[in-house]
Amino acid sequence: MSAAASVPDDADALAVAQVAPLGPARGRAQATLSGPALTDLALARGEVDRSSYLRGNDAWLEQAWAATGTRVVVAEHGRALCEVDDDRAELVFIRPADAPGGVRFLLGVDEHSTAYFGVAGPLTEPPPGSGVRAMPLREAGPLLADRDAGLMTEAVALANWHETFTHCPRCGSPTDPFAAGHARRCPVDASEHFPRVDPAMIVLVTDPDDRALLARNALWPERRVSVLAGFVEAGESAEQAVEREVQEETGITVGAVTYLGSQPWPMPQSLMLGFRAGATRTEIMVDAEEIAEAHWYSREELRDAIASGTLRLPPPVSIAHRIIQSWYGSELPGSW
Ligand SMILES: [Zn+2]
Repeated sequence: MSAAASVPDDADALAVAQVAPLGPARGRAQATLSGPALTDLALARGEVDRSSYLRGNDAWLEQAWAATGTRVVVAEHGRALCEVDDDRAELVFIRPADAPGGVRFLLGVDEHSTAYFGVAGPLTEPPPGSGVRAMPLREAGPLLADRDAGLMTEAVALANWHETFTHCPRCGSPTDPFAAGHARRCPVDASEHFPRVDPAMIVLVTDPDDRALLARNALWPERRVSVLAGFVEAGESAEQAVEREVQEETGITVGAVTYLGSQPWPMPQSLMLGFRAGATRTEIMVDAEEIAEAHWYSREELRDAIASGTLRLPPPVSIAHRIIQSWYGSELPGSW
């Protein structure tokens, strides 16, 4: 199908999406990719329906905020309070009446009709010895169960946005939240502004011998390596960004590019799009500015380098770790 022919189809699909659904989805299935794909990424989970159709319903929002069963998670500077027990964590929810006065946003409604809100506000000091502490998403994400991982990722992403994008980019006036905290509007020129997400691609490049390209960023300590990554530029597709970044950073050219999946990375506002790509020219010439070194590794070489402490991989919460692991074929330790 040509690009032009696909436009009416997309417009029709959008129109349908805007009128449905009329209520919270029950027993919602997680959307998955077909083909080679990464599943269960730490920050791409969730069980609570976002219930976007309720964001404009002020009467419902007021009622939900007054309901005793409503749960609130407070997020500040990318952190939220969690109760930690060994290798598991649970989000700490408070009642709406106990919430601080920051920007409020609807996170969603679960299958029992319990509403979840987030508030961008100061975290309270946890009582000593309670096992509760303020955790960054990077640390809490892998320890939380699906429901809490989804709620914290959404809450941190929205809180980060409200903390940063407080003024109108057109006229500089302070903007006001609306749509249950999922948008902001300028009171002077009525322009509307939505949460900003910066797409970034991350790619594992392999050579004809199926060796993986791992590189060390110039800002990282010795031994730390990962796959290549970079922001998608304005007016560029994600796959064009893959081709450009790999070429700029290592001099390698790639042919076929395969999409593997994505994970929100609201630190502060990225969406990581994961790919694999096959190299068509394999000679490495690092750019020396952004990349300090890059090398091809066989599975055996990588395993031995990790075992001896010569190399350290990114932590399991990252899509980078999961991409490397999917190539390697089994679990790998991550240590930074
Ligand atoms: Zn304005």
